[in-house]
Amino acid sequence: MLINHDTRCALDCVVDLVNSAAQGSEPDTLGDVSALGRFVERNAISDVRTLTRQDLTAVRAVRARFTDVFSAPDTRTAAALLNTMVAAAGTTPRLTDHDGYDWHLHYFAPGASVADHLAADGGMALAFLLVAGERERLRRCSAPDCRRAFIDLSRNRSRRYCSSRTCGNRLHVAAYRARLREAAR
Ligand SMILES: [Zn+2]
Ligand SMILES: [Zn+2]
Repeated sequence: MLINHDTRCALDCVVDLVNSAAQGSEPDTLGDVSALGRFVERNAISDVRTLTRQDLTAVRAVRARFTDVFSAPDTRTAAALLNTMVAAAGTTPRLTDHDGYDWHLHYFAPGASVADHLAADGGMALAFLLVAGERERLRRCSAPDCRRAFIDLSRNRSRRYCSSRTCGNRLHVAAYRARLREAAR
């Protein structure tokens, strides 16, 4: 699957957003406006004006929509969710080469709020994945106490765990044990 750099960044941003929600014993990491500021900075989201409490509420609502897309039971449901999201965000495709980046498309409308920006660009990135027949790459970590969202970009779609250190280790430990069992035969 060919994924260009901008789509990749938008997908990473969606995953970061979905995983900011409270999960099990993990708290919500988008708790206040300054946390939203760190999220915006970490994901290098461009053209963001001064963030407000309203932005926080709106971004959390968009987060819930993305979470729904991740858990959609089928492609038709995911498509309907994305259509609603992208339409509500007032998507406006626009070529740009801002900040020294190569030419790429922005989908958020000029002057869009950060929530609309995320819904437009993240929504379109997921839409491309869906169109490519790759919706099943939207996954949740198989570790029972984790369930973090991730996008499996491996060639054979075999990734089962999120990229967090503990779950990655779990995978290595399991592989190590399997090798030991193999060697003991
Ligand atoms: Zn850009
Ligand atoms: Zn995990």
